[in-house]
Amino acid sequence: MSDSIFSDDFKAHPFWWDETPRPESDQAAPPEKTVVLVIGSGYTGLHCALETARGGMDTLVIDAQTSGWGCSSRNGGHVSGEIKPDYDELAGKYGADKAFDLVREARNALEWISEFVRAEDIHCNFIQCGRYHGAHNPRQFRRLVEIASNQPRGLEQPLRIVERKDQASEIDSDFYHGGLVIGSHCSIDPAKYHQGLLKVATDNGVRVVSLCQAVNIERISDGFRVTTSKGKIDAKKVVIATSGYTETVTPWQRRRLIPIGSYMLATEQLAPARVSELMPKDRVYSDTRKLVVYYRRSPDGTRILFGGRVSVFESDPVKSAPALRQEMLRIFPQLEDAKLSHAWMGFVGFTFDFLPHLGKQDGLYYAMGYCGSGICLASYFGNRLGMQVLGRDEGKIAFNDLKFQSRPLYTGKPWFLGAIVRYHQLRDRIV
Ligand SMILES: Cc1cc2nc3c(=O)[nH]c(=O)nc-3n(C[C@H](O)[C@H](O)[C@H](O)COP(=O)(O)OP(=O)(O)OC[C@H]3O[C@@H](n4cnc5c(N)ncnc54)[C@H](O)[C@@H]3O)c2cc1C
Repeated sequence: MSDSIFSDDFKAHPFWWDETPRPESDQAAPPEKTVVLVIGSGYTGLHCALETARGGMDTLVIDAQTSGWGCSSRNGGHVSGEIKPDYDELAGKYGADKAFDLVREARNALEWISEFVRAEDIHCNFIQCGRYHGAHNPRQFRRLVEIASNQPRGLEQPLRIVERKDQASEIDSDFYHGGLVIGSHCSIDPAKYHQGLLKVATDNGVRVVSLCQAVNIERISDGFRVTTSKGKIDAKKVVIATSGYTETVTPWQRRRLIPIGSYMLATEQLAPARVSELMPKDRVYSDTRKLVVYYRRSPDGTRILFGGRVSVFESDPVKSAPALRQEMLRIFPQLEDAKLSHAWMGFVGFTFDFLPHLGKQDGLYYAMGYCGSGICLASYFGNRLGMQVLGRDEGKIAFNDLKFQSRPLYTGKPWFLGAIVRYHQLRDRIV
């Protein structure tokens, strides 16, 4: 047996793509005119396009790569409806009522996506499995107890504290000092979800042209002229749905988006009994560290899918895989002999206030910056943005009037990330 940590059939691409290969790209040139042009074909872009097409507007989606190639087919498949800042933090900044509305709206997104998947009959292993959120030290366990016993009124959700002594029922690991079960969270196969969404969108008249990169946007009398790698397209309305992959073609958005690499690996197939011993309840898992890790079983129960932010500027997943594997072994030393069958990464769109944003700037609609919780938020924001493009008032949500901040001298290259990661590493050791 070789000493390599990689299996003989190792692939440096998302595990999900084995079962859901990249969709065929539309090789034809895009039309020269459309009413709505959406740039980016992930969950945001497709949901927005579906809504405008259903509302009767001729809608075209373009993507620089194949459809869904960005985060939407390479994420971890944890569906939460949570935003990063908690209620108290938001209340301190925006007041109690606004904080309530923001948290409520994000939770609505979880209910909304569940209903969407059910109504459209998308087969994507969407399961309300609950999350186990482990405390990485006793202090963080006390904080989780505090959270569970002091939920903001009207925003209560099913939370259950698990003491360290009872933890084996949730996870076969000594790493945590107890944890919190969040009953409402779900798991999904993200690429199957994207593929199902793509079919619903095209069945409803949306045209998706891939391998078509937008390189310039200029105003014309009746809207915008977008120059792409496949020719020019005139559109009355243009939507920017590029999140962590936002380029210089939209400099205003790029100055507000912080692309942060998130890395994932899949183990080779293991005996299902061994996998369910590690995670007996088949939940999604995360913990209280600032340097996030997230993991789960594969939908068929034979692999561990493990993700985290182990690297700052590395975009070669093969190079980052050993560090990510070490993180997995800290939690599950039992996996020392398990080889890796897949490793991949993608760029999550973060924002300076850790909140997602949508709206209209210089005539361009946009929704982006889900800070790692994009499965349901991108879907919901895309849908609501589509309503806004249609001019429908019900599309306006609590996030609409938040200021989308940038920072002086920031142009889209997060030179400060290395220092932040080192700070979080240190903080995780002591707090
Ligand atoms: C490794 C990883 C794990 C994650 N895990 C989770 C998770 O477990 N749960 C969760 O909720 N979220 C998770 N996320 C985040 C989530 O996947 C994203 O927030 C969500 O998919 C964003 O969708 P989107 O449609 O806005 O952007 P994307 O899906 O990233 O789509 C943007 C698209 O824009 C295209 N594009 C960019 N520029 C141009 C241009 N100039 N012209 C044409 N096309 C362009 C790109 O090619 C890309 O396909 C994860 C992300 C990563 C990378």
